[in-house]
Amino acid sequence: MMDGSSPEPRDIASTCPYCGTGCGVLARTSAAGVTTVVGDPQHPTNFGRLCVKGAALGETVVPRGRLLHPAKRVAGALQRLSWPAALDEVADGFRRIIDRDGPDAVAWYVSGQLLTEDYYVANKLVKGFVGSANIDTNSRLCMSSAVAGHKRAFGEDIVPVSYDDLEQAELVVLVGSNTAWCHPILFQRLLKARERNPAMKLVVIDPRRTATSEMADLHLPVRPGTDVWLFNGLLSYLHQHGVIDTAFIEAHTSGFARTMAIADNTAGDLRSVAAACKLDPGVLTEFCRLFARSERVITAFSMGVNQSSSGTDKVNAIINCHLATGRIGKSGAGPFSITGQPNAMGGREVGGLSNMLAAHLDLEVAAHRALVQDFWQSPRIADKPGLKAVDLFDAIDAGIVKAVWIMATNPVVSLPDADKVKRALAKCELVVVSDVIADTDTTAFAHLLLPAQGWGEKDGTVTNSERCISRQRAFLPPIGEARPDWWALSEVARRWGHGAQFPYDAAHQIFDEHARLTRFGNRDDIAPRYLNLGGLVGLDQAGYDQLAPTRWPVLAGTDAPVPATDGAAPLQAFADGRYYTADRRARFVPTAPQAPAGRLDDDYPLVLNTGRVRDHWHTMTRTGLAPRLATHVAEPFVDLHPQDALLSGVREHALARVSSVHGSCVVRVRLSGEMPRNSVFVPIHWSGQFASDARVGKLVNPVVDPVSGEPEFKHTPVRVEPFSVAWHGFALSRDDHGAAAGASPLTAAAAWWTRITGDGYTRSELAGRRPDGDWSARARAMLGVVDPDADWLEYEDPTAGVFRAVHLVDGRIHACLFISPRPDLPSRAWLSSLFGKPQLDPGDRIGLLIGEPLAQGEDAGATVCSCFGIGRKTIEAAIRGGCATPAELGAQLKCGTNCGSCVPELKGLIAELRARQTTT
Ligand code: SF4
Repeated sequence: MMDGSSPEPRDIASTCPYCGTGCGVLARTSAAGVTTVVGDPQHPTNFGRLCVKGAALGETVVPRGRLLHPAKRVAGALQRLSWPAALDEVADGFRRIIDRDGPDAVAWYVSGQLLTEDYYVANKLVKGFVGSANIDTNSRLCMSSAVAGHKRAFGEDIVPVSYDDLEQAELVVLVGSNTAWCHPILFQRLLKARERNPAMKLVVIDPRRTATSEMADLHLPVRPGTDVWLFNGLLSYLHQHGVIDTAFIEAHTSGFARTMAIADNTAGDLRSVAAACKLDPGVLTEFCRLFARSERVITAFSMGVNQSSSGTDKVNAIINCHLATGRIGKSGAGPFSITGQPNAMGGREVGGLSNMLAAHLDLEVAAHRALVQDFWQSPRIADKPGLKAVDLFDAIDAGIVKAVWIMATNPVVSLPDADKVKRALAKCELVVVSDVIADTDTTAFAHLLLPAQGWGEKDGTVTNSERCISRQRAFLPPIGEARPDWWALSEVARRWGHGAQFPYDAAHQIFDEHARLTRFGNRDDIAPRYLNLGGLVGLDQAGYDQLAPTRWPVLAGTDAPVPATDGAAPLQAFADGRYYTADRRARFVPTAPQAPAGRLDDDYPLVLNTGRVRDHWHTMTRTGLAPRLATHVAEPFVDLHPQDALLSGVREHALARVSSVHGSCVVRVRLSGEMPRNSVFVPIHWSGQFASDARVGKLVNPVVDPVSGEPEFKHTPVRVEPFSVAWHGFALSRDDHGAAAGASPLTAAAAWWTRITGDGYTRSELAGRRPDGDWSARARAMLGVVDPDADWLEYEDPTAGVFRAVHLVDGRIHACLFISPRPDLPSRAWLSSLFGKPQLDPGDRIGLLIGEPLAQGEDAGATVCSCFGIGRKTIEAAIRGGCATPAELGAQLKCGTNCGSCVPELKGLIAELRARQTTT
């Protein structure tokens, strides 16, 4: 600026890095370095809206916890390295093992968090230059069954449906998807479409009662693992009732007769299907009728379908119903795989899975391999599929794979039988980890650590669930020495003598190469594919910077690119009735119902289902930094049916150990009323950084789908039993006692702990076994108060086992600790609010000692609406005051008026209070 002042902060358009919805954001960083993130009104996915995770992104782009420099572990301690030295070590280490044991002795394990450009370079390096296909991705864990199902039915991994289609549908069936929590903006689009068109119906198929099913017109609480029965039954019903599109089947498909015979044999009678699926026959019939009479029907599915030992069959059972009715390739109709991660789709485009090649070419087809090798000018090309995620870590455990480079993922938390992953990494000869965060459960096993760029620092592209490519643009300088992952990979390639094939200086060059490969040989007589970015070839830096969100295919030549923002109709996949199989026909795939692999017995009588909660993402390395996201679900929990709780001997709010034959975890008991009998739910998010013992991955059965290799995260036999403790407690402190969680005096004093980040404090939930002792001295030690003259208040009732202590500094609360033999401790919401006060008044001090606020209304209760920080007690007061609908609550308190994710909870609270009022 001419006058020497700082330039005005600019809005940079980028893409939310969480779920596969792929919302556009505008990020702005002030001169003081504070980043705010709002929805991009121009983005065709969200038109300016964001869920609370996206809205809280600004709170996560902080230096706290970042891995700043390359490092090497020597005698257990990390030593800082320069980038050249670290890359020499990586290149030499992998080369040594490849030369000694062959290319299949090394592996890469990457992530749906990577940008397409990172993914592309990783796959090129491994498949074309190492000559192995041992590169798999954590997307294996969430949507590889969808990929396999698409390939079996369509010949190519194509999602044929767009978000616009979803809004055009008469009937939307959501299967195994808590969309309201896991894809909130997509769900809000769906609800708005139903508001505009009240004839539209929403059916939810899910064993659990969820925030999504609460908003459905019909909920089918199907028995876990019986989806193939259900969709075979639907297929048979459609056949019996003449809702089959014979002309379409004859012209465009193969395999109908055999598939139909198997469906009729296994599920020809709805009563038996209802019995197998434990459904009310009337509800099942109503669903079949709805499906039969709705020409525009979309069946959207997610992890509840994919994460199964028969996930691929489930996907094909769904697709079969669409093929049989010809409800595909048309506006408002088709099967729709909703992806979990921000760039699972981009990874699929560049061959991110170990059994794929780049640009939707087939690793197992010699002509495709030759095409890719020719394009890459690579010395070799992998000629057989590599190891899939679970097998890959088994091979490390068995000493077959001796070096692994893990990028942007945390397998010690997220893989099934996760303790085995730990053991495998502990004995692996060379473990390289590229990550943003220094201390994760996985970086603990790294011999070499490479600092990766965080979300706000990265430049590239991602593809969302509807095939829309969006730019992720850097708006912050890299923290420390963080570099792009594609750069680190290219530097290793250069050290191996492949500099000419890895000449990249900028992400746009990689995108251009990727786009060119999608067009390469993409002709009917060579290797026809629907994935074609020919129209995006040749983008220079300026063109890449300006790239608007664009759904593929984007054809070159006379077919100009079709940006999704310009109002033009996106290309409809399969509208021409041509598929990408050898005969260009869609394939029906016969699917026989299979029971889940794990069998219940007296020792393990309950089914463990795992999944996400509304405000957290994966292993919390980012959402765990945002106070706004911390309190909706503040602790790891097991949710179970009250009768199962009774039979297991556990009580609500107490602690329980959940165990399978593979491992166990200790979590809080919750009886939300959402669980059917014999099923329990535990969230996936808590790692060793946030809890003493809550990695649910330890318990999960490592059995996988035989086609896709996707693990069965939704069906592990477990038991639940009490975890006995002598005391419960919690501490709020301005000191970060959890930074070195295991070593902290606070958590070391407990047999069980969890922690979350609050606004100006860290909250630690605690439980311990030692019942007695001098709590006063212990509390001071736990909170690190060494000054005997510190401003310290305490209250103790030794008979009741209750202890409360508060440490004040300059009249402000600095830390507090509450202990009781029971888990019914004072309100954390009220105590949290005291951390925002510049001075405590005498009433606050008295309240702290008696364990509750003196004045009414000071306790807002547990957070329900994270967007506006509205608590349960505030909402209950408004309901008692006359608010009878979520809209009325929104008008009074604003809750539910931003992302809308809490609307089902608001509905539930209204119903609960009404029921209470009726019975009193
Ligand atoms: Fe991000 Fe939420 Fe949009 Fe998903 S729905 S992309 S988490 S803002």
